[in-house]
Amino acid sequence: MVVVMHAAATEAQVSDVADRVTGAGGEAFISRGESRTIIGLIGDLDHFGDLGLDGMPGVDHTVRISTPYKLVSRDHHPDRSTVWLGHGDIRTPIGPGVLTVMAGPCAVETDEQTLQAAQLARQLGATVLRGGAYKPRTSPYAFQGLGPAGLQILADVRSEIGLPIVTEVVDAADVEIVAEYADMLQIGTRNMANFALLQAAGSAGKPVLLKRGMSATIEEWLMAAEYVAQRGNLDIVLCERGIRTFETATRNTLDIAAVPVAQALSHLPVVVDPSHSGGRKELVEPLSRAAVAVGADGLLVDVHPHPELARVDGAQALAAEDLVGMTESLHLMASLVGRSYSAPSA
Ligand code: PEP
Ligand code: MN
Repeated sequence: MVVVMHAAATEAQVSDVADRVTGAGGEAFISRGESRTIIGLIGDLDHFGDLGLDGMPGVDHTVRISTPYKLVSRDHHPDRSTVWLGHGDIRTPIGPGVLTVMAGPCAVETDEQTLQAAQLARQLGATVLRGGAYKPRTSPYAFQGLGPAGLQILADVRSEIGLPIVTEVVDAADVEIVAEYADMLQIGTRNMANFALLQAAGSAGKPVLLKRGMSATIEEWLMAAEYVAQRGNLDIVLCERGIRTFETATRNTLDIAAVPVAQALSHLPVVVDPSHSGGRKELVEPLSRAAVAVGADGLLVDVHPHPELARVDGAQALAAEDLVGMTESLHLMASLVGRSYSAPSA
C-alpha cells in the first residue's frame, strides 16, 4: 500500500502516519518528491486497511499495490512520467512525446576525443551527452576509465557544447563525486542488483539511468528501480540494453518487447541502447528503428570520432559517416510515432 500525502501536509502529519504503521508492526518508507510526500508501506496489507490511514490529517489518499515494486508502478502513478535533467538553459526531458537521443563515446579517453564525440552527438540530434569516466570492465586488465579526470573532461565539454551529461557510477563510494559533475547517474547492467549502489544513487539528488541487468527479468529490473525510488528519487529512466541468451551472433539479444511491457507496468520512461545490445555498428540503425517503433522514449547511442582507435567498444560506435543515414531513419520513425526529434536535417 502507498499513502499519498497532500501537497501541503506537514512533517508532523507524515511522521504520524509512519508511526501508526510502524506501531502496527509494518515498515514505512517515506519518499519526499518535489510536490508531495509518499509513504510506501511494507507488511500485511489487510492489516493496514484497518488502521484508518485514509482519514488521517494530511493524507490525500491511499492506494493498494500488490506488486513487489510500488513507487515505480502504474498503480501508484497511472500517468507516464517525464524525467528532466540538467538545469538552466540546458534542460532535457525524457518521456512521452519526445524521442530523446543520448549519445557520446563509450568511454571518455581524452578531451579532444570527448569534444569531437560530443559534436557528433549533436549532429545526431542528441540532447544528452553520454560517456563513461568509470568503466565496469569484464576483464580486470582492460581500461577502467579515467575516473575523476574523466569527469572533469565531461564537465568541460558540457560547458562548451551545452548538453547535460549522463555518466556511469560503479561504486557506492564514488556516488558523491560523480553526482557533483553528472546531470544523470548511470547504473550499468553489471550493477543493476548492487542494492547499496542503487540506494546511494537514490539519495544523490540527481536523475538515475538504470540499465537492465543482462540476466534480469523485467520484474527484477523494476524492483531495482524501486530501491532508487524508495530513497525519495522518482527521477529514474529505465534502459533496455539487451539480455544474455543462447544467441552469439549479436553481443546481447535486444529484448524489444521489454519496452512496452515495462511501460505498461511502470510509469517510468524506457529507453533503448542499440549499441550495447547489438554490439556492432551496422545493427545500431535497424535496432534504433525497432526501438522507436515499439515506443521507446529515447536511445543511448555510442559515437566516436575514430572508432578504430577507441579504447572501449569501437566495433559498435557510429562515426561521422554513419550519421546521415541514422538521422534520416530517426526523423522518419519519430514522425511515424508522433515524437519530437530535433536533429538538424542533413
Ligand atoms: C555503457 O553504457 O557504457 C555500458 C557499460 O553499458 P552496459 O552497462 O549496458 O554494458
Ligand atoms: Mn560500452
